[in-house]
This record gives sequence, structure tokens and C-alpha cells, in this order.
Amino acid sequence: MDCPVCGKLMVQEDFGGVLVDVCKNGCKGIWFDWGELKELDESHEGLGKALEEALKSPRVNDADRGPLKCPKCGIAMHAHKYSRAKEVNVDECYACGGFFLDSGELRAIREKRMSEEERDAYVQKLIGEAPLEAGTGRIRARTTACQKFGGLLSRKYPFWYPVDYL
Ligand SMILES: [Zn+2]
Ligand SMILES: [Zn+2]
Repeated sequence: MDCPVCGKLMVQEDFGGVLVDVCKNGCKGIWFDWGELKELDESHEGLGKALEEALKSPRVNDADRGPLKCPKCGIAMHAHKYSRAKEVNVDECYACGGFFLDSGELRAIREKRMSEEERDAYVQKLIGEAPLEAGTGRIRARTTACQKFGGLLSRKYPFWYPVDYL
């Protein structure tokens, strides 16, 4: 699968038994699908490191780019705005259920870091944004995935809140 931002071939990494696509040879962006997110938590070795590497790598995309195309389906993904910062998005494909996090976005997420309450509100907003039919298995799977996704942005990953930020 090619990275939707830089076009390099993505590499599957094993995070404690969960396989996640990482743009190892390019922008360090990370692709998760709902199923993968559902399985992940902080105990998964390697996940924090992949997020940290993405955070350290420079932004390769243009902040004014159009919607990213899903690397699996080829259709335009939906960009979820993060907080009030227009240029920070989390991209999601409603067709196959993939989330893409690119390095520039991660960095901006850190710079505009939110309190735990704001983070929870963001997760609730994410959950409410999908045009999926209520009560279906799909929506339940996605809701869990969004909650796990929120967990990825929380304080248990120390690099989000390095010492000089406190
Ligand atoms: Zn890439
Ligand atoms: Zn897709």
C-alpha cells in the first residue's frame, strides 16, 4: 500500500501482535483501520516509538492540500478538524474505515495540545461526525476505534508533553 501523502510504499509493523502500516521510508505517517485501533492500547510495544518518529519527522505535505485519497480505496477521505486549528486534520476513509495520521499533523496536534477534557470532547466530536447508520455493527466498531484513537493522544505517551513544555 502506498502512502497517501508521499507515495512511498508503506511497511507493515507489528505492534505487539497488531499489524499497522507505517510510512517507514518516507514521511513516517501511520495508517490505522478501525479494527487495528480497537486492538491497540499503550501496552503495545512499538506504537509509542512509531508515533514519536512521526512526530520528529518534518511535514511533507502542503497545509492547503486537497483531501487525501484513501490508499486502499482511492476515494477522497474525510478530514476531521482538530480543535480550531484548520490546518490540523485527521483523515478518515468512511468506506474502509482507515485513519491516516501524517507527521505534520501529529506535530501540530502536539503544539495545540489539549487538556484531557478537550481531548474527550474531540473524541465525542469524531464519533458524531461519521455518516453511518446508527446502531449498526459498523458504528459500534468505529466508536471504539475513535476512543482508542483519543487514547493515542493522551498523556500516557510522554513525548506529547515533553519536560520543556510543562
Ligand atoms: Zn509517507
Ligand atoms: Zn478506504
